[in-house]
Amino acid sequence: MYALKVLQPETARRAAPATPPRSVRLSLTDRCDLACIYCRPHKDAGYVDERLDFEAWTTMVDGLVQAGVRRVRLTGGEPLLHRDILRVVAYLAAQRLDDLAITTNATRLEKLAKPLRDAGLRRVNVSLDSLDTARFKRMTRGGRLDVVMRGIDAALGAGFDEVKLNAVIVKGENDVEIEALVRWSWERGIVPRLLEVMAVGEGANLQDRVITTTEMRTRLDHLLVPGDPARERDRGPARYLVAREDASRKVGFISGTSDTYCKGCDRLRVASDGMLRPCLATNDGLSAADLARGGDAAAVANAVAEAWTMKPDGESFKGCTETSAAGVSMRGIGG
Ligand code: SAM
Repeated sequence: MYALKVLQPETARRAAPATPPRSVRLSLTDRCDLACIYCRPHKDAGYVDERLDFEAWTTMVDGLVQAGVRRVRLTGGEPLLHRDILRVVAYLAAQRLDDLAITTNATRLEKLAKPLRDAGLRRVNVSLDSLDTARFKRMTRGGRLDVVMRGIDAALGAGFDEVKLNAVIVKGENDVEIEALVRWSWERGIVPRLLEVMAVGEGANLQDRVITTTEMRTRLDHLLVPGDPARERDRGPARYLVAREDASRKVGFISGTSDTYCKGCDRLRVASDGMLRPCLATNDGLSAADLARGGDAAAVANAVAEAWTMKPDGESFKGCTETSAAGVSMRGIGG
């Protein structure tokens, strides 16, 4: 039997959404070699007790696919710190999913980009908040920009279907770089995405330093075709605008603080300890660890369906603006 944990029942609804989860984020590990200022207070922040091993992950994946999942993103923590990352990617690639992507800080991408591509990874999102060495180091609490740049170059050379950049914009820190980050990305064929600081985990302590996506757009007005940013089907919460000079270039905006993106959310998360998490903004969840370790994919699929009934509705529940979000570890849940 698995343990049913409903830590914040006031946020849960008791009827599963009409459609099953199609998209899942796997937090392969909650470990990370950086400690971004909006994510965690320091590098020694607590870790989960017991992570799933490779065999348990294969059962977890089988169960997720049986439950209807068609798109997978590997995240964390830092997924490239996982010793079996290439095996996990190869196992996922063999499932013939509609999408297989990773979100990474790129500190290990220089060596891993080509092997990841060869293993079947299709798309890469790199998190990079600054092009300035000192600021990057400060925002990541010790990260080396040159290492990350070499990782990005390797990703661009490896032939992925798409490379995107995620930049969290923090007032008084990297907001002076909004345009530079966009231009730098465009010059390299990278799609830049600008994120508000969300009140998840450590981000809850930085809510006086949020730059809204509306303000970001205003600062980029001279570069972008006017209009309302639009979502792309099956491509997550970002809303995009295209460049005035070249319609093949675009910028994504991800709110979460000034606006929510819960409506129609089909995303489930699986934490590195095997906890199924139906919503980024609550700690509601259900552990499928024992089922995965026991090799019972059908039972994992049932647990997924049960966890899905805990998904808050996307209308009255206001996502990362709810107080429950502050208690969530982005690193643990799989940001
Ligand atoms: N280690 C990987 C990385 O750096 O991309 C994956 C995990 S990280 C938690 C995933 C994404 O969450 C990153 O793009 C990071 O910038 C973002 N993130 C973390 N905390 C956030 C917050 N409070 N608000 C907005 N974005 C956040």
